[in-house]
Amino acid sequence: MDHNRLAELLFPQIDKSPEDYETMYPPRNLPADAKVTRLGPSPTGFIHLGNLYGAFVDERLAHQSGGVFYLRIEHTDDKRYVEGAVDIIIHSLRFFGIDFDEGAGLHGDTGAYGDYTQSRRGEIYQCFARKLVAEGKAYPCFLTEEEISAIRAEQEEKKINPGIYGIYARSRDLSLEQIEANLQAGKPYVIRLRSDGEPAADETGRRIRVHDAIRGILEMPENFQDVVILKATGIPTYHFAHVVDDHLMRTTHVVRGAEWLSSLPVHVELFEKLGWEPPVYCHTAQLMKLDEEGNKRKLSKRKDPELSLDYYRKQGYHPAAVREYLLTILNSNFEEWRMEHPDSPTDDFPFSTEKMSNSGALFDLNKLNDISKDVLLKIPASALYDFLKSWAEEFRPEYLHLFDDRAYMEKILDLGRQDSKPRKDLIYAEQIVAFISYFFDDLFAIEDPMPAEVPEEDVAKILAAYLESYDHSDDQSQWFDKIRDIAVRFGYAAKPKDFKKNPQNYKGHVGHVSTVIRIALMGRAQSPDVWTIQQILGEERTRRRIGQYK
Ligand code: GLU
Repeated sequence: MDHNRLAELLFPQIDKSPEDYETMYPPRNLPADAKVTRLGPSPTGFIHLGNLYGAFVDERLAHQSGGVFYLRIEHTDDKRYVEGAVDIIIHSLRFFGIDFDEGAGLHGDTGAYGDYTQSRRGEIYQCFARKLVAEGKAYPCFLTEEEISAIRAEQEEKKINPGIYGIYARSRDLSLEQIEANLQAGKPYVIRLRSDGEPAADETGRRIRVHDAIRGILEMPENFQDVVILKATGIPTYHFAHVVDDHLMRTTHVVRGAEWLSSLPVHVELFEKLGWEPPVYCHTAQLMKLDEEGNKRKLSKRKDPELSLDYYRKQGYHPAAVREYLLTILNSNFEEWRMEHPDSPTDDFPFSTEKMSNSGALFDLNKLNDISKDVLLKIPASALYDFLKSWAEEFRPEYLHLFDDRAYMEKILDLGRQDSKPRKDLIYAEQIVAFISYFFDDLFAIEDPMPAEVPEEDVAKILAAYLESYDHSDDQSQWFDKIRDIAVRFGYAAKPKDFKKNPQNYKGHVGHVSTVIRIALMGRAQSPDVWTIQQILGEERTRRRIGQYK
């Protein structure tokens, strides 16, 4: 067979040679250990936590080593290209502090290794498919869908490996004349790799060894399938596009999900056949969660809203909290590092693929919330104000009026944060607004009942006495002395422990009395320090709330 002739026949339109592309995309001029990574999302417009998780690894590997992190739009299937998908990807990741150095961008590509959108790289893939055909390493396959189904049925019956390989690869040995006749008859065809692998009946078959930066040495059976590299439409499969792109874009580290592990042998064979050095693979763990029964399961798009990145933006999680949390699930030694470096920026943490889990990363919203409390504590009230306001602008315009008085809001946000044991009440915007709502008359509502120890007529008496004795300029201890007086006056113990010792002597204790005030003022039985809250609410609002409680 004259393979060169076959290559010309199949790819008459290709006028560039592989060498032309090697010259166009030379090795990058970077320090020896600089890493080049990429994110390769498909443009479906849906970007999820898994993308962010992977992007984080990519970004850290590249930027920690003085390398390059780029965005490539992977669009090899026939799925619809959602308008604006690139903007969604870039904006979503930017929100979490992840920026690309090159690749597909808001206003076209940047960088010398493009085009960065696979659907515009057709000629490049075809050029390298042509090379493989010319070397006898790939061939056109004319099997129809019916024929392939029949082969599969036969294989199932014989209980042997399914697929197109060996004797089942019936187009492998067609003569040039047969191929020409098929082409002339307009028969559709795909281009398949001519694999050198052998299907093994047992464990003794040939195996490949790959060093995965997360998982260590992987040993797997070699590929033996004549996988499709170009579909009938001339569009490459993921396998082929990945290999060609990552070579020509000079990617050094491929970070991708564990779902690609099973096709790694195909990729290894493709790199080998093309005569290229494969990149370092980093197969990340599946994101898992504990379900209600305490079982680990994969996060699912349908069941788990928290899989979508939008979820975090809409709920108003601060990006620093999400970053901090992701690092705790990405690297097992991050929390220890954080304890030793409480004030260092996360980028100072020496991130490494070896410290990544390979058996399923457990994602836990409660843990994220805990971390968020600590992270928000370190953010000054003025920065928190800006963050919350821009969240409201985007997602909750009905709350924008809460931000009219900056000084008032900053005092609210700072409440209890300067104490030696600071309060950690603030988690994410939606929760924060609910938590502080009583500071705003239009959101204020009585949520909790009065304490059972205090009969209704006492509530009115206590509030009336409180209002009468109220002096906004009292300091905290003067204020509390007055509450004690009121307690005693109406038959409540001045100290909880007196009540505990002799409950028969009292209706309740001073704590119950102050809860009455708390509920009238804030509508809640639990809140930060009442005196401080009154100072923020101001005299007029304080008196009004006490006076109008019914
Ligand atoms: N387009 C692939 C995906 O969305 C990317 C896999 C890779 O990074 O190689 O899963």
